[in-house]
Parts: sequence; C-alpha cells; structure tokens
Amino acid sequence: MSIQVKKVSKLYGKQKALDNLSFEISDAEVVGFLGPNGAGKSTMMKIITGFLPQSSGDVFVNGLNVMEHSLEIRKQIGYLPENNPLYLDLYVKEYLEYVAGIYKLGSKKKQRINEMIELTGLGLEQKKKIGALSKGYRQRVGLAQALIHDPKVLILDEPTTGLDPNQLIEVRKLIQTIGKEKTVMLSTHIMQEVEAICERVLIINKGQLVADQASNTIGSIKESYVLDLQFTSPVSKEQFQGIAGITHIQTLTNNRYQISAKADVREQIFQMAVSNQLILIEMKSQERNLESIFHELTQ
Ligand code: ADP
Ligand code: MG
Repeated sequence: MSIQVKKVSKLYGKQKALDNLSFEISDAEVVGFLGPNGAGKSTMMKIITGFLPQSSGDVFVNGLNVMEHSLEIRKQIGYLPENNPLYLDLYVKEYLEYVAGIYKLGSKKKQRINEMIELTGLGLEQKKKIGALSKGYRQRVGLAQALIHDPKVLILDEPTTGLDPNQLIEVRKLIQTIGKEKTVMLSTHIMQEVEAICERVLIINKGQLVADQASNTIGSIKESYVLDLQFTSPVSKEQFQGIAGITHIQTLTNNRYQISAKADVREQIFQMAVSNQLILIEMKSQERNLESIFHELTQ
C-alpha cells in the first residue's frame, strides 16, 4: 500500500479542515482527489507529504509513519504544491541542479537532470529563466522537480489550474505518462480532469470523504445535468415541472432559466416550448455541475 490515511482530522484553531478522513491508495494507482475550494485537499496533501502535522489520526507512506519519518518520507515522495512556488530568478537547469543538490543525488545528478528535462519537454527552455516561462512550462518545471529523485509516490496539488487548453492537454498527457510507473494522487476541482487521467476518484467535501469510486462511474451520479435556457417570454414553474427529471429551477433575468435535472431533458424542453407556444432562443448544456454532485453526495 502506497498511502494509508487513518481517521485523520485537522483543526485550524476551531475550524475543522479535515474530519476523520480515511482512505488507502495502492502501488501504481492514479487517483483523483476531487472537491470544491476549501474542502481540505491541500491540507490533506500537506499532511501526507509531512509538511503539516495532523491533529489526530495516522498517515503511512510506503508503510512508514509520516510524523515519525518525515525526512525519509520526503525522499520517497515527489510533491508539486498548490500554486507551484518556484524561484523565478533562476534558470531552469540551475533550479533543477539546486533541487538535485537537496536530494544529494551525487554522481547521478547530471544524468537525472537531463532525463527530467527530456521527460517534461523542457529541452528548448532549459537555458531560460523560470520567470520568463509560460504557466504551462512552469508546471513542467514543477513536475521535473517533483520527479528528480525518482520517488515512488507523487502528490500533485492542482497541477493544471490556470493552464490554457493546449497546455492543459500537454500537462495531462505528461501526468498520464508518469502515472504508468508511479503512484499518483492529484487534486483538482475539475471533474472532467479526473475522468481523463485517473482510474479512481476520492471526493471530499468539508473535510469528509463523500465518495470513493472508479472514475468512469461519476457520470452516473444523479442530478448531473444543468441547462441554461432563454425564452422570449416568461415560463412558469408549472410548465417546467411538467417535465420528469427536473429537480431544480432557477429564474434569472431576461427570461433566462437555469435548470438541473437527473437526465438529459433537452428534447423534452424543446417539446414543452413548442406545445406551450414559447420561443426558445438559447439552450446551453453546462459541464456537469460539481456543486450539484456534491449536494447529491452529501445529502
Ligand atoms: P482545498 O485545497 O480543498 O481548497 P484547503 O485544504 O486549502 O482546501 O482548506 C481547507 C479549509 O481549511 C479551508 O476552509 C481553509 O480556509 C482552511 N485553511 C487552510 N489553511 C489554513 C491555515 N493555514 N490556517 C487557517 N485555516 C486554513
Ligand atoms: Mg487547495
């Protein structure tokens, strides 16, 4: 077992950021750690990596108690913290040499640095200052530093936040490549990301585990369709409620509505408009709404 979290709670003053959380991650699993902002993801990751002590409970990485072996643990874990703090004034290669120095890689140092540059596609950027790189390339530097000591376990805290769509695809590909050989736990608040990269998903909300399942089954969670609609005249709640599956109707300005449903009701909406002589001028599906899924899971 790579990671074992047993009944972990964390208090910041009186606030409970983690509430009796337990889960396990096996060797070479790629697990998504999903939750809304403030759910406790970063806190949990800082505890697993030994950067923050828990208030109660135990965490083991590769069988070692993190609190008791924090130095040894850091050799076995690669960690990309939230917001990827880097030294912007250093050159890419210089920074990786600095990190390699911390891990005392000795004679392997030069070779490892070159391998990381190759793996993360930093060849053309290695002589640039980190501050001059795009966000996507900075994330690659963050991944290179997390991997340089060849850890078995990788903890990536929101590795794709703030990337543009092309960078997103590239960084996801890179994580998938890495995930073939290593245990990866990655946090995100984007559901599609979990479906794209991870085999399994752990969902937390308010410091508690609300789901632990194969990532290709999250789509089956109920109430996961959200539609934005606009008509040329008002629609009554009763008219919407005639459609089976609609669970929530929010009235916005200018005859706009947002509805949540347990099924894809686009056809029924269109037919309802026709039979009531309403003119539908816009219908947009939102990406599955995480908030509504959390709502469903935590009921
Ligand atoms: P996430 O990464 O899921 O967004 P965090 O672990 O950062 O969540 O935060 C969980 C909760 O703990 C939040 O309510 C946050 O405000 C609080 N929190 C996080 N870090 C601190 C801290 N250093 N001091 C006090 N409260 C904190
Ligand atoms: Mg966070």
